[in-house]
Amino acid sequence: MGINAIRGFNDILPGEVEKWQFFEEAARNLFESFGFSEVRVPILEKTELFVRGIGEATDIVEKEMFTFPDRHGEMMTLRPEGTAPVVRAFIEHSMHAADQVTKLYYTGPMFRYERPQKGRYRQFYQIGAEIFGVENPIADAEVLSMLTELFRRTGIKGAELQINSLGCKECRPLYKELLLDFLKTIADKLCPDCQRRLNHNPLRVLDCKNDGCSDATKDAPSIIDNLCERCNSHFKEVKANLDTLGTVYSINHRMVRGLDYYQKTTFEIVCTALGSQNAVAAGGRYDGLVKDLGGPETPGLGFAIGLERAVSLIELTGKSLLKRPALFIATVGEQARKWALKAKYELNLKGIWAEIDYEGKSIKSQMRRADKLGARFAVVIGDSEISSGSAILKNMVEHSDKEINLSSLTEKVSI
Ligand code: ATP
Ligand code: MG
Repeated sequence: MGINAIRGFNDILPGEVEKWQFFEEAARNLFESFGFSEVRVPILEKTELFVRGIGEATDIVEKEMFTFPDRHGEMMTLRPEGTAPVVRAFIEHSMHAADQVTKLYYTGPMFRYERPQKGRYRQFYQIGAEIFGVENPIADAEVLSMLTELFRRTGIKGAELQINSLGCKECRPLYKELLLDFLKTIADKLCPDCQRRLNHNPLRVLDCKNDGCSDATKDAPSIIDNLCERCNSHFKEVKANLDTLGTVYSINHRMVRGLDYYQKTTFEIVCTALGSQNAVAAGGRYDGLVKDLGGPETPGLGFAIGLERAVSLIELTGKSLLKRPALFIATVGEQARKWALKAKYELNLKGIWAEIDYEGKSIKSQMRRADKLGARFAVVIGDSEISSGSAILKNMVEHSDKEINLSSLTEKVSI
């Protein structure tokens, strides 16, 4: 019996991977032009990093981590997200000393033990970016605009930026109490999950997907109306700076992020085409996190894009990203095959994808393969072509033929 992949772990095959490469390259180019540098952090970290970084009472830490002891009994975790490892690396390598502002991005697999379904896997990929050292709301607007631009330039339609503020250590507890007072008055209308959440994490009730819960909390007090002076003016400035940059957003005061470290600005990019798992990217400001993990007091802000979800939206835009050979060299006879081997090799070294027949198949079968691969040009080479030095170049897209000199093959197919 064959061995299959583990549930929730996917293969990304040729035909699909081109979209990933397209999106990753667009992200890389964009982030680097905003001054972000790539950082590569390990996939495995000490469990404690995530428990302290993400917070004990979060869904991720409570029930979603792949955690196990190593051979010496030390607890290890496959990273469920990238921010905590990047913050760890920032502190460990004293990166704050190099410049007042540090801008980093990362990409790679994350692991969460969730129920696999469309848009939700146990191994999934994220591209994320983090900016350390700027408290000013200019950073929030810049990072959000950069993120929005990525979706624009990859042709993804219907990606909408939603923002919120979760307040700070001063105003959030006061708001929580206000919210709790309200929730108690409608507790009997909430789903069993929310009734449980009520006491330890009342904010999560606000983004429950259950229709009954969203109806019942329609008139809940809004955090935006209950921010302290500092958080309120920060939020106002974020909005003003987004307007300056021409970035369109909407305010979603019910957006509650699942990670404890967020303060002030939080945001999501949502897209209705995704169905029920509609967030394609998410993030926020985490001013206390660097200090909590043992580093110097440093403000921070970042986001992570879910690549499976982003890539599935590229499919919807119908972009054709499939790679195809520039030339297929079909051959008749041993001498022609040798010639083709060399011609192909030289084209490949010039960066042109040319294909040949390896096994001496019939011309019909070779041409069928050229067609299937989507080759833009094809040429048939036999003894007479080699001795005359000329051949018929078939344009497979326009269905036209042209006699060419074999010495000009490269130039003819490299358009
Ligand atoms: P969700 O509300 O969908 O559970 P989250 O709050 O857990 O999201 P984050 O931790 O902020 O998500 O991760 C950022 C992005 O990573 C999400 O918006 C989503 O696109 C993607 N993501 C998160 N979990 C998964 C998963 N299990 N499979 C695929 N993508 C995921
Ligand atoms: Mg989640």
